[in-house]
Amino acid sequence: MNRRSFIKSTGVASLGIGLNINKTFSNSIKQINKPIVVATWDVKNATKKAWEILSTNGNSLDAVEQGCRVEEANENGQSVGIGGLPDREGNVTLDACIMDYMGNCGSVVYLKDIKHAISVARLVMEKTPHVMLAGDGAKKYALSMGFNEENLLTEKSKKDWIEWKKEEEYKPIINIENHDTIGMLAMDEKQNISGACTTSGLAYKMQGRVGDSPIIGSGLFIDNEIGGAVATGLGEEVIKTVGSFLVVELMRQGYSPDDACKIAIDRIVKKPGSNYKNFQVGYVALNKMGQTGSYSIQKGFSITRFDNNGNINLDSQYYDKQG
Ligand code: ASP
Repeated sequence: MNRRSFIKSTGVASLGIGLNINKTFSNSIKQINKPIVVATWDVKNATKKAWEILSTNGNSLDAVEQGCRVEEANENGQSVGIGGLPDREGNVTLDACIMDYMGNCGSVVYLKDIKHAISVARLVMEKTPHVMLAGDGAKKYALSMGFNEENLLTEKSKKDWIEWKKEEEYKPIINIENHDTIGMLAMDEKQNISGACTTSGLAYKMQGRVGDSPIIGSGLFIDNEIGGAVATGLGEEVIKTVGSFLVVELMRQGYSPDDACKIAIDRIVKKPGSNYKNFQVGYVALNKMGQTGSYSIQKGFSITRFDNNGNINLDSQYYDKQG
């Protein structure tokens, strides 16, 4: 009997008193899969970087930050860091957040001209009395901490934006590109879990728009007793259901990472009037045993996991089988 059916058969999950059951039950599982890192999309270079840290006794916070930085520095990725697609007015604006195993968190929103948004978010967490810095203030803070100012709009992204401007048609695109927001979760040898999430947000968004990715509880949530979750896809839908927090709370009730992601996707799909066929959302989760899971609305989502079995990219299960 797996943990979920155990809890379901006793009925305690629905009473919201799963925590004790969870703990008692998890004590009986001897094999903990650690260290481990898991991320949204096919980002083997990023998970490799994180693994270098985890496999040499490094901590999960450094692992997720360094892993995300790989994609932020990749000019070919048009959804993260340098090379990110701009808003309607041609501004590349980055959103990112990070959360550690102590429950600390930091975030930046609408950050311009600084590619390593995840490292700025970490400094907000560690060196300021705040959780979130936005816009000019976030940039000013980054510059004061020694970050370089650079133009994040690459020639390729500029060309695509000019092309888009011919029609100026705005519709959230189901992400069929090979990757998007980078969300990363890691558990180190000490069994401590941290997470990070970084993005340039939706392509051609309204100026000033901020999505789920820098919002703790929506784009990312970590509870070191239970596990962590990250989201990618249409941020507005993730925010409305406080998605990553929901996934972690479902794991607290005893659901497996896969089932927790699936229930959180169901919550979006089954909302009255949901037009889920027109957008994508995907979740990734990691629990304290080192088990991972994922689920998305549309076909095409995948995750990359690096543990003692190697660095592999896995297709995610999804809801919309009819397409
Ligand atoms: N979640 C991001 C946002 O809404 C975008 C994405 O993951 O594609 O800004």
